[in-house]
Amino acid sequence: MECDKCGRDAVMNAAYSGAHLCETHFCRSIEKRVRRRIREDSLIPRDATPEDPERWVIGLSGGKDSVVLTQILDETFGNDPRIEMLALTIHEGIEGYRDKSVDACVELSESLDIRHELVTYEDEIGVKMDDVAESDPMNMAPCAYCGVFRRDLLERYADEFGASKLLTGHNLDDEAQTAMMNFLEGDVKQVAKHFDASLGSFDDRNEQSEFIPRAKPLRDIPEKEVALYAHLRDLPAHITECPHASEAYRGEIQKLLWKLEENHPGTRHSILAGYEELSKLAADQYRGAGEVTLNECEECGSKTSGTRCRKCKLVDAIHAV
Ligand code: SF4
Ligand code: ZN
Repeated sequence: MECDKCGRDAVMNAAYSGAHLCETHFCRSIEKRVRRRIREDSLIPRDATPEDPERWVIGLSGGKDSVVLTQILDETFGNDPRIEMLALTIHEGIEGYRDKSVDACVELSESLDIRHELVTYEDEIGVKMDDVAESDPMNMAPCAYCGVFRRDLLERYADEFGASKLLTGHNLDDEAQTAMMNFLEGDVKQVAKHFDASLGSFDDRNEQSEFIPRAKPLRDIPEKEVALYAHLRDLPAHITECPHASEAYRGEIQKLLWKLEENHPGTRHSILAGYEELSKLAADQYRGAGEVTLNECEECGSKTSGTRCRKCKLVDAIHAV
């Protein structure tokens, strides 16, 4: 197969777009799609200036997605005085897994000369994920605790570092899976939350949204293409799987989506496009009906719909064991 642009050997062909691209043109196409997403989501406000810069906190786990995101952001905006970037790594306390990926984070931030901060569950919550998985006081999958803690710390530290936006490396497959899971669980509130808490376009966002806006500039790029990009550019990404990985349902959805994509190329893109549209409608609807009231957790101050947030309840249960 030859590259559509230059006739050299193609390294990838994408059934959903019909494109065949060589290494150079494939890498360019990834970078172009990420930049277009940033533009379309209006990630850089018009009034950002070198004196009053836009502050991006990037969730950097050391896996391929966040490494690719950080690399492209640095190459695109590293010299832009209107933007300040900081990479934030959360260490869950998982023996033999996270230490290696933290090394990848340190290597990347040093090579890009980007400020890097590390926050650990052990310091912040007083537990390691290895111990949580072992004691499991709520009888849940490890990822159910871990996801709550990670989200809380990302939010809290993004706030502490003065972030105007929190950027994460979620790719097209991640997002299409999450969309499908929320549909299949009938969780419309979660669909609405997606718009409020995460989605660009930021021009459209509810001004009063209480969350630090989230952005996912890789969400148009399929997982395989992110992996190929990391490989071709020889980026320091860490690839082993977490020993506690336990999202069995997500795995099922992933297989289903692969099958659908094979038979109907473009399915993931259309699921996500529909999800984003629907999420905006649902968010408007709930807001209109006055159903979004958020309080501050009486213990830690995080946003919660009750009086104590989910993270604090889980932490108490863990310490009670
Ligand atoms: Fe945490 Fe689950 Fe991710 Fe492991 S796979 S780091 S337990 S969320
Ligand atoms: Zn709390």
